[in-house]
This record gives sequence, C-alpha cells and structure tokens, in this order.
Amino acid sequence: MSKTPRIAVIGAGLGGASAAALLLQDGFDVRVYEQAPSFARLGAGIHVGPNVMKIMRRIGIEDVMNAQGSHPECWYSRHWETGDVLARIPLGAHAVKEYGASYLTVHRGDFHALLMKALPSSAVAFGKFLTRIEDLGHVVRMEFADGSVEEADLVIGADGVNSRIREELLGHEPPKYAGYLAHRAVFPTPAVKAGMLPFDACVNGGAKTAT
Ligand SMILES: Cc1cc2nc3c(=O)[nH]c(=O)nc-3n(C[C@H](O)[C@H](O)[C@H](O)COP(=O)(O)OP(=O)(O)OC[C@H]3O[C@@H](n4cnc5c(N)ncnc54)[C@H](O)[C@@H]3O)c2cc1C
Repeated sequence: MSKTPRIAVIGAGLGGASAAALLLQDGFDVRVYEQAPSFARLGAGIHVGPNVMKIMRRIGIEDVMNAQGSHPECWYSRHWETGDVLARIPLGAHAVKEYGASYLTVHRGDFHALLMKALPSSAVAFGKFLTRIEDLGHVVRMEFADGSVEEADLVIGADGVNSRIREELLGHEPPKYAGYLAHRAVFPTPAVKAGMLPFDACVNGGAKTAT
C-alpha cells in the first residue's frame, strides 16, 4: 500500500459524499465514482437528526443547513385512522440543549447539493457505473460500464439500496417486502405558509401492516 492510501468511494449519495468530504479533510487521496451523469434537485423531504448535524458541523455545512431547513418543535406520531396522538417527541430547542445540535427537516436535493459543494470537483468522476470489483490482495480492481478500469487501495461501497458492491461481496439478494407501506404527499410552500393546510409540522401516521 502506498504511503497515502488511495480510497475509492462508489456512489456520491448522502453517505458517499459525506465519507469522501471527511476523508479528504483528513488528508487521504480520495476519488468518488458516481454512476449518474450529473445531479439534479431530486427527492423531497428528509429528516436530519442531531447526530448527523454534528457530522455536518465537521464538514462545515451545519450553519447553512440550519438556515435552509425547518426546525419542528415536536415529532408527532398519530394513529393512521383516528388521528389520535400516540407519541410526542420534543425537538426544536430541546434537541439543541439535550443533544448538542439541531433536528432538521430539509429537501434532500438541497442537503445533497451542499455536500457535493464540500467536495472538490476533481475528486468526483460522474458517469461511472461500477459493474465489477475484485480484491487482488495488494490492490482493489474496479470495472465500470464505460469500459474503464481503476485501482485503489481501499474501496468504500456507498452505492445505495441496490448496491453492486454488496452483491459482489455477498451475492444477489433481492429486496424482501416487510409488509409496510408509506404514503407521501408534497404540498406547495405558499399553501402551507398561508395556513391553508393545518397540520403538525412533523407528523407520521402509525402504519398498518399488510396481512
Ligand atoms: C435521487 C434520490 C432521491 C432521494 N430522495 C429521498 C427523499 O426525498 N427523502 C428520503 O427520506 N430519502 C430519499 N432518498 C434516500 C436517501 O437519500 C437514502 O436512503 C440515504 O441517504 C442513504 O444514503 P446512501 O448514501 O446509502 O445512498 P444514496 O443516497 O441512495 O446514494 C447512492 C448513490 O450511489 C450511486 N450508485 C448506485 N449504484 C452505483 C454503481 N453501481 N456505481 C456507481 N454509483 C452508483 C447512486 O446514483 C447514488 O448517487 C433518495 C435517494 C436518492 C438516490
């Protein structure tokens, strides 16, 4: 292994981009390989807990995330059918005092864009779909769909729910349906701000399992 290990991160999603930013800060030689040709503002709302915000503090994007995100006072769990409150978890100022960082809800695309901005563009290769990975002992060999081959001393699999790396290591494992459903709706911000949609800022409805 060379003095500064060459680290390849497969996938520039939330996990891959965060890992790469932190490893670069610590002086490692990092290259990120992402299958998408570029990123757009995809997704919708995502929750970011205080534990994650402390990592974002280290990456240097905590303040801008705090400015962009919503800070719900509480998380309510309501019965899916009756709307009865089943649980109420205090967040807001309580989270900052108790856990040392904010609890936020943000747009996944905005969060991701901040993480990508924290990476030098020279560290990210787009359009690189990993198809095969092989540990040769002294080095790891990676093959990509565009025919290119790269090597690294260490590879981090951050390629999401349909991970090729997991498949290469553990074999094909199709997702198993757990019997839960989630419905999601996106509302226009002006309607929410105008109070036309009165509901808790942060609420989930207790799921009904399929039988
Ligand atoms: C486009 C998108 C939108 C999402 N929107 C939401 C949302 O609105 N709300 C929510 O709660 N969660 C959302 N999620 C899920 C959430 O972001 C992830 O579950 C969570 O962040 C896990 O992060 P991860 O880094 O493990 O994987 P991900 O964030 O899913 O990232 C995996 C990355 O790996 C890349 N990749 C996959 N296979 C390969 C390969 N073979 N070679 C190279 N690169 C590869 C993908 O293109 C992707 O960029 C979204 C995920 C994605 C990809």
